[in-house]
Amino acid sequence: MDREQIAPHVEDIKRALDDKVSEDQIAGELENYLNVYRVPLDSAKRSIVRKYGGNPAGLQVGVQKKLAELAPNEPSVSLLARVVSVNPKEIQVNGNAKNILYGILGDDTATVPFTAWEVENLEMEKGDTVRVENAYTKEYRGQVQINFGNRTTISPESPEAVPPFTPGPATVRPAKVADLREGFGGVSMTVRILSLEEREVMVEGNKKMVYSGVMADETGKAQFTAWKDYGLKEGDVLKIEGGYIRTWRGIPQLNFDERAEVNIVDEDFPSMDDLKTSPRIWIEDLIERGGAVDTTVRGILVDVKEGSGLIYRCPECRRVLRKNACRIHGEVEGEADLRIKAVIDDGSGAITAIFGRELTEKFLNKSMDVCIDMAKEAMTHEVVRDDLADMLIAQPIEVQGNVTRDDFGIMMIVNSAEVLKIEVEKEAREMLDDLEGLT
Ligand SMILES: [Zn+2]
Repeated sequence: MDREQIAPHVEDIKRALDDKVSEDQIAGELENYLNVYRVPLDSAKRSIVRKYGGNPAGLQVGVQKKLAELAPNEPSVSLLARVVSVNPKEIQVNGNAKNILYGILGDDTATVPFTAWEVENLEMEKGDTVRVENAYTKEYRGQVQINFGNRTTISPESPEAVPPFTPGPATVRPAKVADLREGFGGVSMTVRILSLEEREVMVEGNKKMVYSGVMADETGKAQFTAWKDYGLKEGDVLKIEGGYIRTWRGIPQLNFDERAEVNIVDEDFPSMDDLKTSPRIWIEDLIERGGAVDTTVRGILVDVKEGSGLIYRCPECRRVLRKNACRIHGEVEGEADLRIKAVIDDGSGAITAIFGRELTEKFLNKSMDVCIDMAKEAMTHEVVRDDLADMLIAQPIEVQGNVTRDDFGIMMIVNSAEVLKIEVEKEAREMLDDLEGLT
């Protein structure tokens, strides 16, 4: 490969390393890997990113991902996977019949459903190992879905290219909600069901009812999915042996099916009311856990980031527009929205917190229409962000919501928030002093 061909990949590595390493240095190393050591492009890029302390999941251009690394709404992904199942289906598009394929792809990290929207010349059979280039991902019912569109190419690979799926260790481990981590198998725990809903999913082309919701013990809340009807009800205390953990954007979820031993028990356990409160968690614990359901964080709001205040979204995909253009759909008529992307620090670590329109209007004490007028008058949207920054930066604040993780770190989608009067900073200092006292 020459300099021109590797340029987009150099750019990609540079971005994955937050521009901390120079283009020349990256280009030199990449050329060495490719032309001297004959390392495949994917591995070379991942190695360079890791070498400089970055996360290879941040690479975006033509780099192969593991299925467990996929996030929703990725515009271009490459995969090496096994076809676990594949089925034809006829759907109606604008009154015309159209043939599509759907099924499941698997690798050594996960299985993920896929849909192929263009099936001409597409040859895929159950058990095939395939290289997929330029697919894209969406989110459906809280799960990542892979889509093959007209830019996607599929080519056959040798079966050895994908190692077999390896579920977590099979030993039984007793666990509390706060201990749950990606990949755990053989989990044994007792929890109370706080909420429950029934939903229909497709499993290998067949409809199946699953039962999911939120469960809790005294250490916190987590989502769960039961793949069989155990006759569960809200409020039941369950003893589960042989559950396994999958994470969704960093949030651990307990799954159990016919292989697990599940019993509704009558034992002394914290009440619904006690368990419904949102536990306060230090940010460093959230970073270590990766994600959590309905959590409270208390800290100082230290930054109101770019992209806060009055923003315009793509009407098709809700992405935030830059210079009136969507990254996927080009120039579009944007729809106004309000949000705050803030950084909150509690002395143990920092978290990005996203506040939606309702909370932003509450902080501003202004409606969105008033903000639009303000921006017109000032001839810049930034006036709204400036107001928010003046109002919120350096304020102690308590926020509550779900915490998820992506390549950029942990993030809370805030459900409720309150600016506090108490001295959080002092409290954080005291905690730091305590920690220092221990060392
Ligand atoms: Zn769009």
